[in-house]
Amino acid sequence: MSQYYRVPRTKYKFNPKKPESFELSRSKIDLFVECPRCFYVDMRLGVKRVPGYPFTLNNAVDELMKREFDAYREKKETHPVMEEYGIDAVPFQHKDLEDWRHPFTGIRYTHEETGFTVYGAPDDIWENPKGKLAVVDYKATSKQEKLSLSADWQDTWKRQMEVYQWLLRGQGFDVVDRGYFVYANADKSLAALDGKLNFNLQILPYDGDSSWIDETLVDIKKCLESDSVPKADSECDYCTYREVTEEVISETKDADSPDQELPF
Ligand code: SF4
Repeated sequence: MSQYYRVPRTKYKFNPKKPESFELSRSKIDLFVECPRCFYVDMRLGVKRVPGYPFTLNNAVDELMKREFDAYREKKETHPVMEEYGIDAVPFQHKDLEDWRHPFTGIRYTHEETGFTVYGAPDDIWENPKGKLAVVDYKATSKQEKLSLSADWQDTWKRQMEVYQWLLRGQGFDVVDRGYFVYANADKSLAALDGKLNFNLQILPYDGDSSWIDETLVDIKKCLESDSVPKADSECDYCTYREVTEEVISETKDADSPDQELPF
């Protein structure tokens, strides 16, 4: 086990005796939507999925985009790419913005029916002349084909935006359904790197619908309060891998010779 992976953990687990003090990040809501079993094993039993490698290049692009839009926030001006796409708004100024954008604090809202405190950290928020807010998410890519939001795997981004909209509304803000994905698209058609990547910015609008969230939180609570582990998703190969692995290892252990070599 590497130094980066700790199991099982006791912190941040759901405690059935204290359900009202539970904090739930938007990424854990997404994990539940993706697979209730993986969610339960993580949030109730304390065993997280193995983490992936950090997206350091994407994070660098995000950070620089934040700084770029922050310069326009400071001046209360529309960024040129917003003008190019006809978006009449400026980056929103608020005293709590830095906390809202920090992944460990985020925008927080306590859901009345479950008592869960839900939180999430949007990349940016824009404000139109009527004082209405739009949620903004930065993305980095490198594609020559037209950018779109039509792939199945992008549903997670859409849910992400919808949770941020729901959180801001919970805080009493007037939030429009239309949010924006600001894409930094790296140009890979050049002859050489020459020590830098060239990006162009494109904006993809998305009309969010956060009506699924209340019901999902209630389902999450039922799942966490139950003592039975949800079934595995038949489309996911990892559980099958795990089961087959356990089977072959136990068969090997049951064999006559205790010193028999494992199959891998
Ligand atoms: S089916 Fe896949 S996603 Fe679900 S618990 Fe198993 S490994 Fe996790």
